Amino acid sequence: MDGFVRVPVREQDAKVRATNFEEVCLGYNKEEAEKEAQRCLNCKNPQCVQGCPVSIDIPAFISQVKTGDVEGAYQTISKSSALPAVCGRVCPQESQCEGKCIRGIKGDAVSIGKLERYVADTARELGIKPEGAKEKKGKKVAVIGSGPSGLTCAGDLAKMGYDVTIFEALHEAGGVLVYGIPEFRLPKTAVVKKEIENVKSLGVKLETDVVIGKSVTIDELMEKEGFEAVFIGSGAGLPRFMNIPGEQAMGVFSANEFLTRSNLMKAFDENSRTPIMRPKKCVVVGGGNVAMDAARTALRLGAEVHVVYRRGEEELPARKEEVGHAKEEGIIFDLLTNPVEIHADENGWVTGITCIRMELGEPDESGRRSPVEIPGSEFDIECDAVIMSLGTSPNPLISSTTEGLEINRKKCIVAQEDNGQTSKPGVFAGGDAVTGAATVILAMGAGKAAAKGIDEYLSSKQ
Ligand SMILES: Cc1cc2nc3c(=O)[nH]c(=O)nc-3n(C[C@H](O)[C@H](O)[C@H](O)COP(=O)(O)OP(=O)(O)OC[C@H]3O[C@@H](n4cnc5c(N)ncnc54)[C@H](O)[C@@H]3O)c2cc1C
Repeated sequence: MDGFVRVPVREQDAKVRATNFEEVCLGYNKEEAEKEAQRCLNCKNPQCVQGCPVSIDIPAFISQVKTGDVEGAYQTISKSSALPAVCGRVCPQESQCEGKCIRGIKGDAVSIGKLERYVADTARELGIKPEGAKEKKGKKVAVIGSGPSGLTCAGDLAKMGYDVTIFEALHEAGGVLVYGIPEFRLPKTAVVKKEIENVKSLGVKLETDVVIGKSVTIDELMEKEGFEAVFIGSGAGLPRFMNIPGEQAMGVFSANEFLTRSNLMKAFDENSRTPIMRPKKCVVVGGGNVAMDAARTALRLGAEVHVVYRRGEEELPARKEEVGHAKEEGIIFDLLTNPVEIHADENGWVTGITCIRMELGEPDESGRRSPVEIPGSEFDIECDAVIMSLGTSPNPLISSTTEGLEINRKKCIVAQEDNGQTSKPGVFAGGDAVTGAATVILAMGAGKAAAKGIDEYLSSKQ
């Protein structure tokens, strides 16, 4: 069945990788990438491009890979994306570009994500940079937050010739790419930092340790610092909890805190001064990508890990690839199960969790069947740590310190989908701060749309 099956990608062995923080997926080499590229049918009406929120010219870059023109392929991708090595690793391609690939009807879709990763990694090794602006416009734009939405918006504006400064609250740029997604899925120094340097090479300035709303407000940036437009890409970093008895016990963490300690503060490294709990038996509550990352991190720190999720396998919101990797590594899935109480010893440390079995009932407003408790089915899991991974919402700091910025009942900033315009003139927003927790590529798409919106707004002001 030549052509129907994709070229497999090499990975670290599951038993070995379960004990280290090195990257799981090893990517394609030249020969594998060129072979996989041959499977692209170069469709006249490429559905894959429609499936990509930043509209990368996928058939064009794959044709360039076929002929060994990596530089050309990189420039094709970077016209649309500032973070190809990141997207090639963490995008849910199966529901986007690859989900639309014609090859997928009778066999495997072309491995577009792995080809994108190959191009970005090879370009980086060869020192190839994205092309910048030819002329400057002499207008200042502020970007708040250096996650995927902010980096994309800043990069696109710089390519148009704007004078862009990113203000980032943390000491390192990258947003969730550096504090959330673990090293074994997305290497920080080798990949994320290099793509951020590429954005800076376009002329973007970066100021870290600046908390907008505390160090300086948006109104001050616009009225006193000469910024003519602002993009808010401040994400959704505020964790949710269940409000069940015992949740205040020591050994209960939000996934965000646990992952930030491990990723951003490098606590997994024995030489790091940041403390992290190394649980013996850990329960992770939730079924999304964040839950998988927390579970696989706890496993690598030496724990036996249970994922407790109230719906079934089909409904798990995490990417199938991540669930597969977690299972191969030995994570135990307790599905159709919900926590009801956390227990602690006399010193306040977690000793276990009581859960209840669930069954699926009628569909709820999201169309998914609602989990319903099975009375009398409670059971206990012994554990010394519980990691809550139940989603996040935007921090209200920016909205509460900016005059005239409308938010909705979920505390998300209200912005137009096509250009990011908020209720305040000159202020645009996108990414998780607007949608609530979503994906890297959707945040990038929003950053891109806002860059276009800002350009139209500033051009019409002349
Ligand atoms: C653990 C984890 C795993 C994930 N895995 C995936 C995955 O595999 N694939 C995928 O597509 N998506 C994944 N996601 C989701 C994805 O990372 C986010 O949707 C995406 O990063 C959102 O981008 P953003 O730019 O809107 O915000 P963020 O990435 O959150 O960046 C926001 C930035 O703004 C800064 N900031 C906040 N407030 C202020 C302020 N007041 N002043 C200055 N700066 C501020 C923050 O410090 C941060 O750096 C994951 C998320 C998490 C948490």
